[in-house]
Amino acid sequence: MSSSTIDPDWQRIHYADSTIVDLHAHPGLKISLFDKAFTAPFHASGAFNPFSFESGFSNLHLGGVDVLLSAIYAPERQIVTQEAPALQALRYLRPRLWRKVFGGSYFDVANRMLDDLERAVSAPASQAAGRRPAQVVRSRVELDALLAQGNDRPIALIHCLEGAHSLNSGPGTTTQQLLANLEHYQRRGVAYITLAHFFANDVVHPCFPWPENIQKLNFFRSERDVTLGLKPAGEAVIERMIELGMLIDLSHCTPPARARIYDMVGQRAPLLMTHVGAYAINPDPYNPQDWELRKIADSGGMVGVIFMPYWLTPHASKRGLNAIVQTLRHFLDAAGGEHVGIGTDFDGFIDPPDDLPDAAHLERLTQRLLAERFTPQQIGQIWGGNALRVLRQGWG
Ligand SMILES: [Zn+2]
Repeated sequence: MSSSTIDPDWQRIHYADSTIVDLHAHPGLKISLFDKAFTAPFHASGAFNPFSFESGFSNLHLGGVDVLLSAIYAPERQIVTQEAPALQALRYLRPRLWRKVFGGSYFDVANRMLDDLERAVSAPASQAAGRRPAQVVRSRVELDALLAQGNDRPIALIHCLEGAHSLNSGPGTTTQQLLANLEHYQRRGVAYITLAHFFANDVVHPCFPWPENIQKLNFFRSERDVTLGLKPAGEAVIERMIELGMLIDLSHCTPPARARIYDMVGQRAPLLMTHVGAYAINPDPYNPQDWELRKIADSGGMVGVIFMPYWLTPHASKRGLNAIVQTLRHFLDAAGGEHVGIGTDFDGFIDPPDDLPDAAHLERLTQRLLAERFTPQQIGQIWGGNALRVLRQGWG
């Protein structure tokens, strides 16, 4: 290999040598809300498209994804009561969708969305000949059994939840009920819970949900109080998650909540921030500071770089690869090579970068990392080596 070219074996490094794990994407949102087939093809156009399907089976297959941590999000009611009342028109325009999303407790809705995803993955069209089918794996043992099957194995989907509001089964839900619901999800195979999301829940307070540079959307305007942190029920939930072997994702938690959780958990369980940027590059309270990256590394956990440029840099940009690589390099320096991965947030109603628009194009990151002299070993750790270690250490 000449010193002026990238490793000509980038295809081998990406598709054969690396186990590619996406720590955070939302195919289940599009499947549940828009009745998409898991195999529905989608080609990104560059424009924001709420009906996109960046992490559907076709794109995962093309991009060489081996394991997808699929985050289920039961939409929070305050979206339509506080932030975007215009969406209440959906009650009449799309009554079936409305009932599905708001007809029942968050616990009911999240379970229905898990059912939808499982149905979509096992649908006959998802098992078409000639393509790797996908399979929901519900434990570390099932994951390892699947990975042992060699290169033609199915794509592994792992259930995760975004927002601990999904533990709430209705008005007056007690801490005991939250814990019982937590155990229910553990039995369903949920590997991690992102404790916070857009609004305060029974467990924790969130950061502001959008980065500054897309604030021009006339949407999500009410402030969040970042002096507030973890709630008493949150402490009980975290203790039980450690006992049950469920991973804790601190993405979206306020800085005081995160500080409390680093103290509480210490090295008892690997902590995650699955889809974030670096505060040192884009100083937003959503992003972890360097001391936090060291706490997460000390816990044995990891941080995943989000693919959305608006979290990664303070400058609005339609492209993202530069910022992704810069953030990866910062995480490597601050947390160490064993504690860094990828959490795209595809299909989370985001606007992916034009140069990495969907899961089908992940190889571009491998090419780019090689061009910037990341070693094949580092690339393998970033793509999945670290995530598999954390899953084996902290799940189940
Ligand atoms: Zn998120």
